[in-house]
Amino acid sequence: MTSVATVTVTPYELALREPFVTALRSVTAVGGVVVALRDTDGRVGIGEAVPTPQITGETRASIVAAVGGPLGDAVVGRRVDEIDAALEGMSRAIVGNASAKAAVDVAFHDLWARSLDAPLHRLLGGARKELVTDVTVSLAPPDVMADAASRRVDDGFSVLKVKLGGPAALDLARVAAVRARVGDLVRIRVDANQSWDAKGSVALIRRFEDAGLGIELVEQPVPARDLDALAYVTASVETPVMADESCFSPADVVELVRRRAADAINVKLMKSGGIRPALAMLAAARAAGIECSVGSMMEANISATAAACLAAGRVEVTSVDLDAPWWLAGVVAAGGATFEAGRVALGDGPGLGHTDLERFAGP
Ligand code: MG
Repeated sequence: MTSVATVTVTPYELALREPFVTALRSVTAVGGVVVALRDTDGRVGIGEAVPTPQITGETRASIVAAVGGPLGDAVVGRRVDEIDAALEGMSRAIVGNASAKAAVDVAFHDLWARSLDAPLHRLLGGARKELVTDVTVSLAPPDVMADAASRRVDDGFSVLKVKLGGPAALDLARVAAVRARVGDLVRIRVDANQSWDAKGSVALIRRFEDAGLGIELVEQPVPARDLDALAYVTASVETPVMADESCFSPADVVELVRRRAADAINVKLMKSGGIRPALAMLAAARAAGIECSVGSMMEANISATAAACLAAGRVEVTSVDLDAPWWLAGVVAAGGATFEAGRVALGDGPGLGHTDLERFAGP
């Protein structure tokens, strides 16, 4: 069996086709890194990290330093088939740094699957090969959001994630404008990205319900660390409540379950630190009867493919939020999952399925 010989970090930049705006941030370009692991047979596996300082506390410089330091040290010399021990060693090497860990974790999974000549989504469970994803409607005035929603439906999306950010009357107008424009057949989720308080959330969600706006779920209504507020909202409305920024780790899932603070969780590799901890989150949620979504930050097609492999692999994943590659004006690596409007499809190639890995790998 081969072992990991080198770790290489390559920065990339990609522009967005239009600005991505939430209550937390506005993004017009993505600057991430590709991490490549080469084994002693010359085989290469790749992963990717994007910095989201407002959410994970990481910058591109911190990711490069973590991968080039303790995380790389934890995996070099490890046998490619001792994936669990290697990735456990990585989690012990440094606290935090979830996105940096995710890049190395995904590259290790890619390398492991390639060593077995198997598609990663099959090794993760092989539940399905196609996924339906929602698409985000950026935070803007109501008429601008309705126009954007209409374009996304014309593009072929059938599920919208409508970003909200207060004040309440404006958020109600936003949702009403989008619903009026797209009609009743399009599914609508809303994401407040922590911008409401507990009582305000309950009042506003009840107005959505009373107005018959057909909101499928409300994501992260209140600040991430206020689980009491999240539990209050979850207990007070009929609409399902999803935890996103409140849910980074398996321990977070246990705490959300213990407090009955959410009906669903949104698992993202950049928060969890990769596929291995994400699997533990899905298992914990499944055991507790909590719904699971797999999403992403504004990521390029390597880590979005990894998230798609996770979502496609596991039956407990019942919704998918993987529109990020659609927003980007290009891809970082050829191959991998295809991201067309509303539809994500996995292939039969080994690992993540990318085809031009050599240019990312050192000697
Ligand atoms: Mg969210």
